[in-house]
Amino acid sequence: MKRSKKILFQEFIARKGLKSTRQRGTVLESFLSSDNHMSTEDLYLKVREKNPNIGYATVYRTLKLFAEAGIAREIHFGDGQTRYEHVAEGEHHDHLICTRCGAVTEFENETIERLQSEIAGQFGFVVEKHKLELYGICPKCRK
Ligand SMILES: [Zn+2]
Ligand SMILES: [Zn+2]
Ligand SMILES: [Zn+2]
Repeated sequence: MKRSKKILFQEFIARKGLKSTRQRGTVLESFLSSDNHMSTEDLYLKVREKNPNIGYATVYRTLKLFAEAGIAREIHFGDGQTRYEHVAEGEHHDHLICTRCGAVTEFENETIERLQSEIAGQFGFVVEKHKLELYGICPKCRK
């Protein structure tokens, strides 16, 4: 059975010898219950609704801890903004990004995945990871 991200994070905190604080708990709840691909600002605004005493720096540091703990992944879409998404173990997807409104859509396509490995193989490469980002205009913005 897959352990929940909450438990994974608790184990990480214990391993690191850190205290598990209420504030971190609140940040975690907000993160897990929110949309994927959130920036630190996005999450900070959400966290503030629950607890206005939590500062931006705490949210920032806690997100870094999530990434270190392997329950969040940093993503960069080339706009200088760091975003975070939930990592599900063994799961993979790629992104469609709207250059007008910034909407992010996830997709996964087996043919593309296979082709990428084949191409890498032709160069004697073994792929460890990759990201594929398609930039364009989303249906809403095209209207
Ligand atoms: Zn992919
Ligand atoms: Zn759009
Ligand atoms: Zn994603």
